[in-house]
Amino acid sequence: MKDYDIIIIGGGPAGLTAGIYASRARMRTLLIERLAPGGQAALTEIIENYPGFPEGILGPKLMEKMREQAIKTGLGIISGEVTEIEVKKGIVKTKDREHKALAIIIASGAHPQKLGVLGEDLLLGKGVSYCATCDGPLFKGQDIVVVGGGDSAVEEALFLTKFAKKVILIHRRDRLRAAKILQGRALANERIEFILDSVITEILGKKGVNRVKVKNKKTKEEKEIPCQGVFISIGIIPATEFLKGLINMDEKGYLLTDEDMKTSVAGIYACGDCRKKLLRQIITACGEGALAAFAATKYVEELKGMAYPGNSDR
Ligand code: NAP
Repeated sequence: MKDYDIIIIGGGPAGLTAGIYASRARMRTLLIERLAPGGQAALTEIIENYPGFPEGILGPKLMEKMREQAIKTGLGIISGEVTEIEVKKGIVKTKDREHKALAIIIASGAHPQKLGVLGEDLLLGKGVSYCATCDGPLFKGQDIVVVGGGDSAVEEALFLTKFAKKVILIHRRDRLRAAKILQGRALANERIEFILDSVITEILGKKGVNRVKVKNKKTKEEKEIPCQGVFISIGIIPATEFLKGLINMDEKGYLLTDEDMKTSVAGIYACGDCRKKLLRQIITACGEGALAAFAATKYVEELKGMAYPGNSDR
């Protein structure tokens, strides 16, 4: 088993930024990523609110650049799903391997939330999807329903108008939660229809989705909407199941940290979407990744009895 100074769990913007900062601070650092590096940001078509790109930048492109930069600084990246951490020994276990470190940074992000209605699991991959960037092109010329009223749902709806004949956005309240700029674009888009105050009660179809049952929460009226795709975009749940009982988290599973990204366990830090906070954006994930790496480096240097050199040259 190879020993590291710092192990980072998760390769989205928070984890990759932590990797850049830790490696530049000459920490022997390993990043373990479940799928491909990039996280949810790599599944976003265009990113318009990350400074430095006035025309916006494609999500996969930005994440590829972050990854390239992280590798250039000396960060080791491997694939693997972390299943357990042995805190006292600093051991991070994946299904088939174990790695050891003096400090650990959790940047495990979040998964899409499920709607929990009949037909959702059965028709997953047969019309039901949680990722417009991944599956949108499969629905050329078809009618698509998007569920949710946040930034993600509105962005997905806008993106899907590139392929769909019609996009119907179904939201449970009478107003959207998404940023006003996105709402404005969606309202101005002739291909997007809105069904408000309504919830989907069932997704129907045999070989593939062919309609959804929708109930108006105010009038209690029920109707069926024909569609071939259902994109569910109703928020996220933190990927922190493997940390239950180990690190303090809120009732939803978001990790609690102090302002230096320290968790309730000495030597373990958290950053990005898995952390309890007000604003989940790429920019905040990156800022927290930098902070977590800086705090973890300080912790490792103190453990090793090295003089702490302050924040110069980092
Ligand atoms: P979100 O902001 O939490 O919005 C979730 C939406 O789904 C809300 O409109 C919510 O309704 C609805 N919803 C939740 N549970 C539901 C249920 N069981 N049935 C029906 N509808 C339900 O989640 P998100 O849009 O995935 O965004 C996650 C985070 O990433 C946010 O902080 C967001 O700002 C950020 N983000 C930012 C950008 C960007 O800056 N461009 C892009 C994507 C995501 P209510 O409104 O009634 O609660």
